[in-house]
Amino acid sequence: MAELSAKPDRKRHTACDCTRRNLCEILEHTRAVLLDFDGPICAVFGGYPSTNTADRLRQELKSLGVPIPGLFPTRDPLAVLGMDGIPDSVRRNLESLVQAGEMRAAEFAVPTTGTDEFLSACQRRGLPVVIVTNNSPGAVQRYLDRLNIQELVKAVFARDPGDPSRMKPDPYLVDQAVGYLGLPAGACVLIGDSSTDVAAAHAAGVRSIGYANKPGKRDRLQAAGADAVVCTMGELAAAVAGAVRHRSGSWDYPAPSLR
Ligand SMILES: [Mg+2]
Repeated sequence: MAELSAKPDRKRHTACDCTRRNLCEILEHTRAVLLDFDGPICAVFGGYPSTNTADRLRQELKSLGVPIPGLFPTRDPLAVLGMDGIPDSVRRNLESLVQAGEMRAAEFAVPTTGTDEFLSACQRRGLPVVIVTNNSPGAVQRYLDRLNIQELVKAVFARDPGDPSRMKPDPYLVDQAVGYLGLPAGACVLIGDSSTDVAAAHAAGVRSIGYANKPGKRDRLQAAGADAVVCTMGELAAAVAGAVRHRSGSWDYPAPSLR
């Protein structure tokens, strides 16, 4: 657990107070958390740049003579996997290359500040946390093993290597997670840092909290329809940790004081 707080939280505790009330209202009705991996849990390619893998994919496509020039500027390996027009045999090769890159990246992925506190707070409050991610299951498992935080995560629903069309914004992975939890979709909330997370959540009937970890993301996440937006995982940890339990057994989440 010590590695999780390695980087100082140097930003923006006051930037998102406009959605604080929404955040607390959402948490009051939440019985399970679906958590995106890349962003809210760690920066997957924060220590091993995604360009390494993207460059490898470009080499592979060139060697196979696949004419998709629009892809060549991308730094995102997952964007390549999700593109139309790639023959299945080629896509399987690309999938293997992306998985290898993700496994390597998981060794160096940078933990997100505040996430250890958030996961611990969820555990104390009895809120199960399920990872829902477009990354590969092997990479997620390697990261959880590396940080020794497996016990804080109930399950992982990750990219289907055989069908990249099921990646978010498709609601498939969210639906799978909700079905596994056995809860109404409306009792779950998805926390993610991309508009695709918001879209996948809402398509599945799940509320969404945007994690705006970079400049400009708050506006994009709000425009995508996020029910609330936070700028640090510490805000979420504080909201969950500050919950008060009523005699009925329900939890109340007073607005956290974040100054
Ligand atoms: Mg993400």
